[in-house]
Amino acid sequence: MNKREVGARFLLSTLLLGGALTSHVAQAQEIPAPINKPYLAPIDIQVNATNLRQKIFDIHEHIPVKAGALTLLYPQWLPGEHGPNGPLVQLASLHISANHKPIEWQRDEVNMFAFHLNVPANTDSIDLDFQFLSPAQGNLGAIVVTPEMLAVHWEKMLLYPAGYYSSAITFKPTLTIPKDWKFASALEVASATDNTIQFKPINMVDFVDSPLYAGKYLNRYDLDPGAKVAVHFDVFSDAPENGIAKPEQIEMHRSLLQQAYKLFGSHHFDHYDFLVAASDNFGFDGLEHHQSGENLVKPSYFQEWNKNLPLRGYLIPHEFTHSWDGKFRRPAGQLTPNYNLPMKNSLLWVYEGQTEYWGFILAARSGLLTQEQVRDSIAMVAADLDANTSRTWRPLQDTTNDPIINNRRPLGWRHWQRAEDYYDEGQLIWLDVDTKIRELSGEKRSLNDFAKAFFGVKDGSHVALPYDFNEVASTLNAIQAYDWDKFLHERLNSHGPGAPLDGLARSGWKLTFTDTPTAYYKANEAENNVADFWYSLGFHIHDGKIGEIAWNSPAFKLGLSANTTVLAVNGHQYKDELLKKAISEAKTSKAPIELLIKTDDVYETVKFDYHEGLKYPRLERIEGTPDRLTSILTAL
Ligand SMILES: [Zn+2]
Repeated sequence: MNKREVGARFLLSTLLLGGALTSHVAQAQEIPAPINKPYLAPIDIQVNATNLRQKIFDIHEHIPVKAGALTLLYPQWLPGEHGPNGPLVQLASLHISANHKPIEWQRDEVNMFAFHLNVPANTDSIDLDFQFLSPAQGNLGAIVVTPEMLAVHWEKMLLYPAGYYSSAITFKPTLTIPKDWKFASALEVASATDNTIQFKPINMVDFVDSPLYAGKYLNRYDLDPGAKVAVHFDVFSDAPENGIAKPEQIEMHRSLLQQAYKLFGSHHFDHYDFLVAASDNFGFDGLEHHQSGENLVKPSYFQEWNKNLPLRGYLIPHEFTHSWDGKFRRPAGQLTPNYNLPMKNSLLWVYEGQTEYWGFILAARSGLLTQEQVRDSIAMVAADLDANTSRTWRPLQDTTNDPIINNRRPLGWRHWQRAEDYYDEGQLIWLDVDTKIRELSGEKRSLNDFAKAFFGVKDGSHVALPYDFNEVASTLNAIQAYDWDKFLHERLNSHGPGAPLDGLARSGWKLTFTDTPTAYYKANEAENNVADFWYSLGFHIHDGKIGEIAWNSPAFKLGLSANTTVLAVNGHQYKDELLKKAISEAKTSKAPIELLIKTDDVYETVKFDYHEGLKYPRLERIEGTPDRLTSILTAL
């Protein structure tokens, strides 16, 4: 902290103290614990989402209350984000009144997401006016308002009374969007006039699980024409032509739907909307919901289909799978009574890990990716985790805490610190489980049976059904008798060496390295806008700047860090292709590869005595073994 900040903080605390002295809010007011009884009456909420340039949402809430102490909460633990990440700082201009008379509020001294107030006698409702200052530029957070589209995430735009289960609070939402814009959401419309839409009353759990997308350009595709349960693919785009999917692309998404139905043997939505933003300007990546999924793709997603290989695997099929794995079947520790009680993340290797596994399998089964492309994606995951030595100090299980610890902020040594590895390593563990069931059952049963038994119950219900570790192990055991408890704990708490690759071998394939990248690997480089020397010299590079160093790699051993620019390769100005050529040529030479680098303001030449050439991962068939991976990736 520097002196200027100390001065500013002093001034701020003086002002706050001044406010508190004249306040009539009771000091040290308790935050009531939630109980499961219906809230007094529905809460009216009106959101105005028409301020496109400043990206400010104006919100009005009319909350039925009783006289006396009241605590309002701003959601802190957001579903699907697995951490206490509610964007509290973006809540502004909070004014509370009753019968047009202002009521003072005071923030809790410990819990910054709680606001205390005293409701005057003879008052049966209060009015809240406030703003949600959505990020106007990327460094402030994900941009959700552009000139062409916007997303309404209700959980970031409401306050709710403490003391009640969220499921026991009903909201009556009204939304105003820009004139002539179209919208899509899992919410059901009660009435609409011009550009103001009133939605049917909805309990808070379903409400915050039903974001709304609106935009100038919407292309809506019916993925299941004539079916009882309507499923739509809603593409919002920066320009009208970007929302046009080719018939064969829509067919793949129809196939995704049917393959998911076959796999899980159930659905857990009354209707489902794939909310797709095809945009360069919109910034909200993706999030799962029961009856909808948020998916951000490149504007050229449909036009340049072959450039978007990784995205086709890890996004839309993943978020869709979550309707079963994560939303319907929910780890008990994630299913909290309200959005201000801490969630526990210990089962994210099921919630996210198995979703990652099914996401890629469904991509192959539906044709969104070829089997070869999915194999190439598995090779990348296996190589990355196998080269990662961080498990020596940090087992996979501990990484499930990462959303709470770090909330996806950049990491200086990501590979050594580990970051949410339960996605990718979870995928390897579930491949391990799947192939083990197949082997033990003589190919009669598989993880498909687990999917049906675990996620396929209570067809049609979208009330979250909690589970714990024991239920996962016992469901596996009912499908194939084995000590799954031990099997899973060994992998979750392993210190290596290497990644859990037994499942890959049992699937009939092994990890190998060649000097040419797969098409999938190249597409991944392009998507991340980097040149990849991870398995050779040990870094990624973007515009000559090293982004990250692989721990214990040749670059690491030479003492390089991420704050480094590479200026020249063997005496010539740096270019990605030049470095690739130098690494290839060093394979047949004894001369080191010389890089002129700049770290901070120091110039230096470093010499890589490295002669193993370029290395890129891919899978190779283990001849003479059952090809279970091909069976796994084949459509049901
Ligand atoms: Zn996910």
